[in-house]
Amino acid sequence: MQPTDLLLEVQDITVSFDGFKAIQNLSLKVEKGSLRVLIGPNGAGKSTLLDTIIGKVRPASGDVRYLGQSITRLPEYRVANLGICRKFQAPGVLDGLSVRENLLVACKRSKGVFASFKRGASASEAGRVEELLSLTGLHEKAEMLASLLAHGEKQWLEIGMVVASDPHLLLLDEPTAGMTAQETAKTAELIRSLVGRHTVLVIDHDMAFVELLDAPITVLHQGQVFREGDLQTLRSDADVMEIYLGR
Ligand code: ADP
Ligand code: MG
Repeated sequence: MQPTDLLLEVQDITVSFDGFKAIQNLSLKVEKGSLRVLIGPNGAGKSTLLDTIIGKVRPASGDVRYLGQSITRLPEYRVANLGICRKFQAPGVLDGLSVRENLLVACKRSKGVFASFKRGASASEAGRVEELLSLTGLHEKAEMLASLLAHGEKQWLEIGMVVASDPHLLLLDEPTAGMTAQETAKTAELIRSLVGRHTVLVIDHDMAFVELLDAPITVLHQGQVFREGDLQTLRSDADVMEIYLGR
C-alpha cells in the first residue's frame, strides 16, 4: 500500500474502561475506497474500535490517523465533519415522514442546520434524492411512511441517509442484525455498490453476509488483531475457528 492510498491508520491503540483493557495495542490500516470487514466474538472490542475512531472514546495510548493527520484528540463533531460517519444499530429514521422526505432531510442536514429549515427540494437535492432511492432500492417505496417499512428497508433507508452526507469513511456496526437471508443479500449488494466512492468498514458476525461482501477480513479477539485474511483462509485456520466459532 502506498502512503497516499492510506485513508485510516489506527496505530497501537489501547482503550481501558476502569482498568479493563477493551482494546490492547491494536493497529489497523484501511486503504482509500476499500471495503474492510471486522469480525470477532462478542466482547472482542469491535464496537469500541469504532467508538474510538469517531472520537466517542479516547484511547489511553496510541494514535488514530486520518489522511495522515492525527484525529485522536478531536471531538466527535470534528471527526464527523472530516467525513467519518458511523451508522448506529438503532435506526435514526423519522417515522412520520415518507422515505423520500427522510432522504431529503438527510441531504439538507448534510449542508448545515439552517438549510434544513428551507422548505422543498432544490433541483440538485431532488436529483440526489433520486440517486439515493436507486442506491437503496427504495424507489417503489418513495412515498411510503418510514414507519410502514419492513425492518430491512428501514436499515437501507438509514444507510441512504448516512450516504446523503457523502462520507469518505462509512462505519457500519452489524447492519444485517435481524434481517432475513434475502435482506442480508441485498444489504451486501448495497454496501458493495458504495465501495470506491466511499471507504467502508463493516462489523458483522453473519458468515453468509461476510462471504457475500467478499472483502479482506480482520479478526479481533480480546481487544487485539488476531488474524487478517480472506474468508477461505480464515475458515481453514483452526485457531480462528476455535475463538470465533467456539469449535
Ligand atoms: P464487541 O463489539 O466486539 O462485541 P465491545 O467493543 O462492545 O465488543 O466491548 C469490548 C469489551 O469492552 C467488552 O468486554 C465490554 O463489556 C467492554 N466495554 C465496552 N464498552 C464499555 C464501557 N463503556 N464501559 C465498560 N466496559 C465496556
Ligand atoms: Mg459490538
